[in-house]
Amino acid sequence: MSSCIFCKIIAKEIPGKIVYEDDTFIAFDDINPQAPVHVIIVPKEHIPTFNDLKESHKEMVGHLSLVVNKLAEIKKIQDPGFRVVINCNPAGGQMVYHLHVHLMGGRQMAWPPG
Ligand code: AMP
Ligand code: ZN
Repeated sequence: MSSCIFCKIIAKEIPGKIVYEDDTFIAFDDINPQAPVHVIIVPKEHIPTFNDLKESHKEMVGHLSLVVNKLAEIKKIQDPGFRVVINCNPAGGQMVYHLHVHLMGGRQMAWPPG
C-alpha cells in the first residue's frame, strides 16, 4: 500500500533499523521506544488491523510467535522477560494501520497498561 509507512520500510523506501527479516516478516527498532528494547514486528503483507486476519493467515500467525521468540533471543530479553502488544483500532491505541506487534523489554513493565 503506497501511503503506508510500514510498507515503505518493507520496500526500503524509507530507512528503518532492521533487526530481523525473512520472507514473511520484517522487524525494526521503534522510532519512539517506550522501553530499552522496543521492536516492531510487521508482516510483509499489508493487513490493516488484527480484525482483518483470516483463515488464510493461520500459518503466518503461527510463524509470528516464533519470530517474537527469535527477536527476544536476539535482544537478550528472554530472561527476565518481556511484553508483547498488539493495538487494534482507535480504542486499542493503534496509530499505524498495518498490523504489527510491539516487543518490549529491558525494564519492569507495569500492569494494568495505560
Ligand atoms: P501503534 O500505536 O500500535 O500503531 O504503534 C505504532 C508504532 O510505530 C509506534 O510505537 C511508533 O513509534 C512506531 N513507528 C511509527 N513510525 C515509525 C518508523 N518510521 N520507524 C519505526 N517505528 C515507527
Ligand atoms: Zn502497509
